[in-house]
Amino acid sequence: MSKRGYDGSRGRSPHRSVKMHEVSIMEEAVRMAVETAKEAGASRVLVLRLRVGTLSGAVPDALRFAFDVVCHDTMAEGASLEMETVPAAAWCPECRAEFECADFISQCPRCRNLSGELRRGRELEIASVEIS
Ligand SMILES: [Zn+2]
Repeated sequence: MSKRGYDGSRGRSPHRSVKMHEVSIMEEAVRMAVETAKEAGASRVLVLRLRVGTLSGAVPDALRFAFDVVCHDTMAEGASLEMETVPAAAWCPECRAEFECADFISQCPRCRNLSGELRRGRELEIASVEIS
């Protein structure tokens, strides 16, 4: 059993780089994928699919980088990562309609009201896991 270069599960280091956010997200996602595979009696994780909202705060490139790092020496080593982007959408109570937005608070394109009711875009979750 080889020891990994860092302990990602406990004891957060104060010297975290910018990418640590994505690394801890990925550690959690890969841990869940490996658990799913184990429970199903599988030996490998083939594909991990994530849903990433445009306002989730996670950078897809950084997630991809982190994925390669955290998969090393696990059942998910060599697995592919697929990311589905979820465009952010807000709800306008005046127009009773959803509209796409680029920020947490945005203006309804129809009535120009400010809406803070974000309906989609904060997702950062596992969509599915393929195992074998
Ligand atoms: Zn409106």
